[in-house]
Amino acid sequence: MSDLLRSFQESLAQTSPNPMGLDIVHAEGCWLTDRSGMRYLDLVAGLAVNNVGHRHPKVVAAIKEQCDRYLHVIPYGEFVQEPQVRFAERLTSLLPPGLDSVYFVNSGTEAIEGALKLAKRVTGRTRIAGFRGSYHGSTHGSLSLTDNETKKYRNRPLLPDAMHLAFNDETELDRIDQRTACVVVEPVQGDAGVRVPAPAWLRALRDRCDRVGAVLVFDEVQTGFGRTGKRFAWEHSGVVPDVLVLGKALGGGLPMGAFVSSAERMRLLTHDPVLGHITTFGGHPLPCVAGLTALDLLESESLAAHAERLGALFRERLVHPLIREVRGAGLMLAVELNDPESVQHVVQHCLSQGVLGFWFLSCPSAFRIAPPLVISETEVELACGAIRKALDSLSQARKS
Ligand code: PMP
Repeated sequence: MSDLLRSFQESLAQTSPNPMGLDIVHAEGCWLTDRSGMRYLDLVAGLAVNNVGHRHPKVVAAIKEQCDRYLHVIPYGEFVQEPQVRFAERLTSLLPPGLDSVYFVNSGTEAIEGALKLAKRVTGRTRIAGFRGSYHGSTHGSLSLTDNETKKYRNRPLLPDAMHLAFNDETELDRIDQRTACVVVEPVQGDAGVRVPAPAWLRALRDRCDRVGAVLVFDEVQTGFGRTGKRFAWEHSGVVPDVLVLGKALGGGLPMGAFVSSAERMRLLTHDPVLGHITTFGGHPLPCVAGLTALDLLESESLAAHAERLGALFRERLVHPLIREVRGAGLMLAVELNDPESVQHVVQHCLSQGVLGFWFLSCPSAFRIAPPLVISETEVELACGAIRKALDSLSQARKS
């Protein structure tokens, strides 16, 4: 065992008994290189982070330029920091009215926490509603909304007034009532194994929230920035939330989260008490310049449309007797095999062929395809060839 691997196991807190343990020394575009020189085509994108590819030269240049100006200078909100202002301005220019004020934080889960606090302030209510199958993060508030009992049971008590409704099911919407502060939904569920709801259901959800005065929050941490074939997933249904939660690809490969709402709602965080939500590092200038550059690339390279096209190519090519279903939107796909052992086999076999795939937290019977959105047709063909080969080897193993 190398020194580095030993230290990885001994000095770093571990989250799983069997980490993949890849030792990456270089990343570029859709490719990762490990210390032995082996290259991997990345179908994971750091879990839907590297939408514009790894180390895009423009993103790297923007980070370097900002390093020559200043890094952290003050906790969020006190000084005028041009990178924050320009990024917020650009982001809101791409969003509909009502989503015109941005609060930058450091991660997806932190953005969910901010959204929950804001919804409580707006409504004066405490009940929060989420959906079956959802994942919203690992801190206490977001975990209360998350519907994964194995991640929750050791951490109770969580937030006291959380409830979960059936996803994509209109019959449960009347459980949202005058006591509900907010309803938080992934417009396409990610860790549940990529579940796309009916646009009509999202419209009915919007109507119900309007009727009872509940704040509708869209968690677009995973679906944002072109991943589903639109700039944001809300565009598929046209349903505009009251609060939009962002993360992952937001920072162009650097850590960042944000919740976005109306200036009027956000003003509630300035008084009674003042500093109603605070963060030291939120809106750090480096993720702001990286995120702004990545957003410009998303637009100038039409990456959302590209994701739509190449997602369709994956679906066309992923035909095999062992594949039960390929579901999802754009380049946020789940390949259903109906069996966790098959998923492990395929992920391992693909890895040995230099293709990096991954599974889901809450759906062990499928594996995910979420590459950088800059993936080329040739790379899609290569990935699908490797997946089909892995499935062939599985069929072969079963026969013998
Ligand atoms: N919401 C969704 C939909 C997510 O997929 C995730 C992360 N997988 C989060 C929230 C939490 O984000 P983070 O890990 O940055 O806290």
